[in-house]
Amino acid sequence: MKISLIAHDKKKDNIVQFAEAYKYSLKKHELFATGTTGQRIAENTGLSLHRFQSGPLGGDQQIGSMVADNNMDMIIFFRDPLTAQPHEPDISALMRLCDVYNIPLATNMGSAEVLIHALERGDLKWREIIHEREDG
Ligand code: PGA
Repeated sequence: MKISLIAHDKKKDNIVQFAEAYKYSLKKHELFATGTTGQRIAENTGLSLHRFQSGPLGGDQQIGSMVADNNMDMIIFFRDPLTAQPHEPDISALMRLCDVYNIPLATNMGSAEVLIHALERGDLKWREIIHEREDG
């Protein structure tokens, strides 16, 4: 599965904790991240991730483009609901595309934990079926 990890600045410590806690689940998958989030996770957990641009420089849109190609299976996006973001339109666009393509999206620690447990349990196997159909 292809999984993206994104966190706004005030949530970066949280996503590092999350990635550390679920490292053994996450490392079985192909991981992607926006620039700074990816750097923080890689440095602190040793997980390897493909890093896109930083969010404000287009990273959310790059992940959105994978969603538009139905090529991203899950997004964990720890948003900061209390701070204005310069790239708010990009954030909205990414979440909108998740709704267009039915991509599981967690925007806080509580829902992210539910998604990770679902992933471990195999609840996201339907994504593999979609990919097999596309390839076939
Ligand atoms: P960053 O981007 O990981 O490069 O900080 C995240 C965001 O703000 O969307």
